[in-house]
Amino acid sequence: MLEARHLSVRYGKHLALDDVSIHVDRGECVVILGANGAGKSTLLRGLTSMVPLAGHGKVHFHDRNITGIARHRVVDHGIAHVPEGRGVFTEMTVEENLLLGSNPARARADFEARREGILKLFPRLAERRKQRVGTMSGGEQQMVAVARAMMSKPELLLLDEPSLGLAPIVVGELFQSLRKIRDTGMSILLVEQNVRASLSLASRGYLLEAGRIVGEDAAENLLNDAGVKKAFLGH
Ligand code: ATP
Repeated sequence: MLEARHLSVRYGKHLALDDVSIHVDRGECVVILGANGAGKSTLLRGLTSMVPLAGHGKVHFHDRNITGIARHRVVDHGIAHVPEGRGVFTEMTVEENLLLGSNPARARADFEARREGILKLFPRLAERRKQRVGTMSGGEQQMVAVARAMMSKPELLLLDEPSLGLAPIVVGELFQSLRKIRDTGMSILLVEQNVRASLSLASRGYLLEAGRIVGEDAAENLLNDAGVKKAFLGH
């Protein structure tokens, strides 16, 4: 479904992503693990034209070449990117944010039915649909960001550290919603520091180190991998 080959990204002289190839199949949930600064966010940004690619990398989605397409057109192809730091509209209510999420032409029909379906995945938002997002907790705002991305009717959801800065109990609730989204058959590419939670959601993972892919395996193997345990799970 998503096939990215030989992606490199430079920030000035710094090669933040170095010849990275990954793929996500239909209905798969894939996690990218890596330490701070490994290039995880840069990889998602490179996939969605938020940063320019260096070199001859290619991004294909459903056999369409989407390498370097305009950033705002990525969503028209069925890819929704929830960047780190959320990017929700804090002056607007939950419902207004969701309405904006349904803006691409592919998502305008059935707006209300889809909104109700998505609010079922996030019961906490359903209770707060008229609340201004700026008054919500960090975890709730993260849920709004994911719900808004879902409103674009994506086929692939890219999530950049959704659990960043959230209290453990809220992380649990967020991952429950992500699990429900995964179970609808949505394809997900997830970047996370919360290794245990993300490996229990994902079926496969890549290890990114200093801008390069240094490993790839089934999620359950990664959970039991001595190197992963030592690097990320503290034992
Ligand atoms: P984190 O988990 O800390 O967000 P990450 O794995 O997502 O880390 P990136 O944010 O992709 O890492 O950053 C990869 C490297 O590129 C880092 O060394 C970072 O300092 C650098 N970098 C990221 N964005 C920029 C930028 N806009 N300009 C210059 N350097 C950048």
